[in-house]
Amino acid sequence: MFFGDAKDIKDFIFVTLGTGLGSGIVVNGNLVYGHDGFAGEMGHCIVIQHGRQCGCGRKGCLEQYCSATGLVKTYLEILAGNDPENSSKIDRGIINAKYIYDRAMAGDEDAFYAFNYTGEILGFALANSVVYTSPKAFFLFGGLANAGELLLTPTILSFEKNLLSIYKNKIKIVVSGLPENDAALLGAASLAWNELKTIA
Ligand SMILES: [Zn+2]
Repeated sequence: MFFGDAKDIKDFIFVTLGTGLGSGIVVNGNLVYGHDGFAGEMGHCIVIQHGRQCGCGRKGCLEQYCSATGLVKTYLEILAGNDPENSSKIDRGIINAKYIYDRAMAGDEDAFYAFNYTGEILGFALANSVVYTSPKAFFLFGGLANAGELLLTPTILSFEKNLLSIYKNKIKIVVSGLPENDAALLGAASLAWNELKTIA
């Protein structure tokens, strides 16, 4: 909102796709804190009932599917589904989001499908979140967002498919323009700056 592409946007949702999934919801130019400061834990929305075990103690949370960790889990599940015997021999240590990205770009269908599945669930979750605050845009950030079209295309497809019709074709989903290494620091500084302005 201060340094990135949301400068002229008052209602948007920022989603970080790293090891987990974090989000910040901005409504009318204000970051939503909620009554205790924990608003925006979108990563812990349950998207699959009785789904994958999450670190929060519940099952089926969004970040278990739409994060670097989630992508790896999906890819390993696909490999196991194709060939259970061989999949147990796979060196899991080498499989990370970058590895799956490289495989998908090299034409590996399983890796491509893993991104598709990730985008499908992400699009569905984002579409559901629209009804609460009616954002103008979503900004995706983090390692997984750097996969670009590989993730964006299935995400947008699923997003539009699952949107309530009054919102269709109005909301952008784009990759954040913030420099990756600076974003957390810029965010923290902006938060403090904003609070100081309020006091003044
Ligand atoms: Zn959770």
